[in-house]
Amino acid sequence: MRDRVVAGNWKMHGNRASNLALLDSVLAGMDGLQGVECAVCVPFPYLGEVAARLKGSSLAWGAQNLSEHAQGAYTGEVSASMLAEFGCHFVIVGHSERRQLFGENDAAVAAKFAAAQAAGMIPILCVGETLEERDAGSTERIVMRQLDAVLTRVKFGSAVLAYEPVWAIGTGRTATPEQAQAVHAALRRRVGEQARILYGGSVKASNAAEIFAMPDVDGGLIGGASLVAADFIAIARAAQRKG
Ligand code: PEP
Repeated sequence: MRDRVVAGNWKMHGNRASNLALLDSVLAGMDGLQGVECAVCVPFPYLGEVAARLKGSSLAWGAQNLSEHAQGAYTGEVSASMLAEFGCHFVIVGHSERRQLFGENDAAVAAKFAAAQAAGMIPILCVGETLEERDAGSTERIVMRQLDAVLTRVKFGSAVLAYEPVWAIGTGRTATPEQAQAVHAALRRRVGEQARILYGGSVKASNAAEIFAMPDVDGGLIGGASLVAADFIAIARAAQRKG
């Protein structure tokens, strides 16, 4: 049985005071939570402080991006070894906002994935189609292309995969459980039974349980709802396996 994962993506939100208040509320709400690995992926400047606050707790932490380069003249970039030095556990790779707003292509995403893995971190690889691609019937082709860019370079190993339809991110429009399951099943055939495959895209406390009930959905990557402790906790509780 695969352990569930619920990871928050704070994106570019927060400040020192609000972060610590959010973490305190999340930690308090996690009491008794079982079988779900919870994490928060936070902006770079806060990693050290978040790491210190979460030390010894069962809430893991991660980054939202990293450089594909090991070191050098790459102003503004953060390397895998820098993150690993702080004990960074997860790192989101290939989020659609990075692909769309910052021009990350499949090759760059694959290089970032490999760099994260080589430094001992767990990449959370995001794949997903736009609405136009879905309407054109290209969903499976697109997510497989994004995944295969990584798999032709390195083994998937203990990485986490996140299916995030672009049209569902931050839009309030969620894939139906059946739409998510269909894509997850296809991805599963490629990455195997052991890999955790998360769904992301407007997951809320009110829709998490029905999505997590799908056999190939192993948890969620949560954007907006991860900024509200009660919502994040409710989603993590919905991810607990029944029975
Ligand atoms: C995300 O940023 O990965 C995400 C899924 O965002 P949201 O939950 O806000 O749609």
